[in-house]
Amino acid sequence: MAITRDDVLKALAAIPADDSGTTLAASGRLSQVVVDSTNRVMFSILVDPREAERFEPIRRKAEGVVLAMPGVSGVFASLTSERGPNQAAPAPRPPSPGAQPAQPRTGPALPGVRHIVAVASGKGGVGKSTTACNLALGLSAQGLKVGLLDADIYGPSVPKLFGLSGKPRVIEERLLAPMDGYGIKVMSIGFLIEPETAMIWRGPMVQSAITQMLREVAWGELDVLIVDMPPGTGDAQLTMAQATPLSGAVIVSTPQDLALIDARRGVTMFRKVAVPILGVIENMATFVCPNCGHESHIFGHGGARAEAERLGVPFLGEIPLNMTIRETSDAGRPVVAIDPDGPQAKVYRAIAAELWSKLAGAPASRAAPRIVIE
Ligand code: ADP
Repeated sequence: MAITRDDVLKALAAIPADDSGTTLAASGRLSQVVVDSTNRVMFSILVDPREAERFEPIRRKAEGVVLAMPGVSGVFASLTSERGPNQAAPAPRPPSPGAQPAQPRTGPALPGVRHIVAVASGKGGVGKSTTACNLALGLSAQGLKVGLLDADIYGPSVPKLFGLSGKPRVIEERLLAPMDGYGIKVMSIGFLIEPETAMIWRGPMVQSAITQMLREVAWGELDVLIVDMPPGTGDAQLTMAQATPLSGAVIVSTPQDLALIDARRGVTMFRKVAVPILGVIENMATFVCPNCGHESHIFGHGGARAEAERLGVPFLGEIPLNMTIRETSDAGRPVVAIDPDGPQAKVYRAIAAELWSKLAGAPASRAAPRIVIE
């Protein structure tokens, strides 16, 4: 059954665009509706960037209504601010496989926060959270104002890494105070859900969880907000990367080949949503025997650096496989905080300095891009 533009407009006619009852169809905000030969429907809604947040539920509703029409095989609805508010929205670009993404962008940047950086890994267990936490402390040691947002919905570990427990204080309706972890403002999904609760995260829940933790926490003025991402490169991670106004991403990997394949997927994921890769970190690189000082490379060595070169992204440094790092992490006393001049802290601080030099040259946190790949 062929879908016509009129069918789509009829379906959209019922959706209110504001409190006065003006419908989306009558609001002048709808672009031309495009229906392709496979009955995929594309349209965009014209908004001022400041209205993006208010219009996101309307966009989702519009998408849902059209998707529910018999015969429709897919919908791509975007918010756009490409034209002035008095002009009709431009026709949307149809998504095509491999299309370069990130236009148009939506989702406002976070006021007061200069840079938001995702720390991600292709898979779990590579030391992503330990690295995120010590990097945040390394940035703070440089005199920067730093926040750490634990968005690892599958296994939030930042409360444990910082030895923090309890619920965040509610400052006012819909505003939480972050916790203090060695001078860093910390918020974790682990403070908000019961640690033992098994949860199945669906796309909209992931998006609303990250949005809440970003926007309903009193972060105040920050130079950098580090986001500890859930490991992996699936839909949840992609949703999160898309919903967060990131300045860039850091990928943590161990040196062995299998981990590097996953790290490569991580780089690809961020590229899909046009988030710059600030660099790759090799974790658990060299092991120095605490008894005899002999160096061994339990997981291999140099793989992440070589992979970074191959992918054309910066290499930020390597962190040794070290007992002190593990013990301090697991005891809730991160090494950079408790032994800031020790050898392990020096490694993290050097990587943090390298990261900051990359950030200082990067544009401040941007509105989150929307993906245009289906
Ligand atoms: P992820 O966030 O990738 O799942 P974690 O940060 O939770 O990984 O680390 C997994 C385990 O590895 C933890 O027990 C942590 O203490 C340990 N670990 C992480 N990095 C190192 C390191 N460089 N040396 C020794 N142990 C480490």
